[in-house]
Amino acid sequence: MDVTFYGARGSCPCSGERYRRYGGNTASVLVRTDGGETIVLDLGTGLRELGVAISSDHPAGGPPVRATALLTHLHFDHIFGLPFYGPLRHQDSVLEVYGPRQPTGTIGDALCDLVQPPFFPIPLQSLLADMRFRELGDGDEFAIGDAKIQARLVPHPGPTLGYRIDVDGQSLAYLPDHQQPVPGGAIDESVLQLCRDADLLVHDAQYTEFEMSHKPHWGHSTVDFAVDLAVRSGVGQLVLFHHDPSHDDAALDEMLEKACALAAPHGLSVSSAREGATVELGRS
Ligand SMILES: [Zn+2]
Ligand SMILES: [Zn+2]
Repeated sequence: MDVTFYGARGSCPCSGERYRRYGGNTASVLVRTDGGETIVLDLGTGLRELGVAISSDHPAGGPPVRATALLTHLHFDHIFGLPFYGPLRHQDSVLEVYGPRQPTGTIGDALCDLVQPPFFPIPLQSLLADMRFRELGDGDEFAIGDAKIQARLVPHPGPTLGYRIDVDGQSLAYLPDHQQPVPGGAIDESVLQLCRDADLLVHDAQYTEFEMSHKPHWGHSTVDFAVDLAVRSGVGQLVLFHHDPSHDDAALDEMLEKACALAAPHGLSVSSAREGATVELGRS
């Protein structure tokens, strides 16, 4: 499978020369399996460009597009690209969205409540594509073509899922928003299960240790924790993800350098998610 980052930022999009190399769009990642499945991880602002990319490589040179989205949770930075996803404007497109079951109402209700006037000029239901919503609970498993998907609840404010995709003999764990344990606390079994022996882990690495000391319960992880989790889970490659909007390219370079130094003694390979970068799994 190929994993391409269209948005790697957390919390809020940002723009400007200082953010040019890593990019400023929020979470949206494209996974393409060798069997031809199109899987979208989160619907942040990176989804707009992702939609352009998968429309233009359609054999007919344009839409329709059939895709499946795995939504981790409903925070703005993970949904804001939805109404700007171009294939929704074409009646033969299909977007199936899986996401965490909500305490009240469905994820379809929640998204339709937001994508309508006065927040957006066109109600979500009026867009032409066939959109379907599926609710997931902790431990649910299902298939997208030949890809096996596992969903587990992970610590973060509000119902939040992490996902694991096993396909083509490779595995990807995606935990973009994860509240790391308090010092000395145990890592949730759900998190360990998703990450165990994954070939690629895309994980929350929003904060430095200093920042975490000021924001211990804001729902996120440090670079140090991401490396520690990857090492103890036997992960092959770690991608640092959900970059804080206050971290420009230079700051992210520094955080990556630190992560590489922590990971090197364990033989773990680390990179930092950049818009437009692709990780190819199983083709080396
Ligand atoms: Zn987020
Ligand atoms: Zn969040």
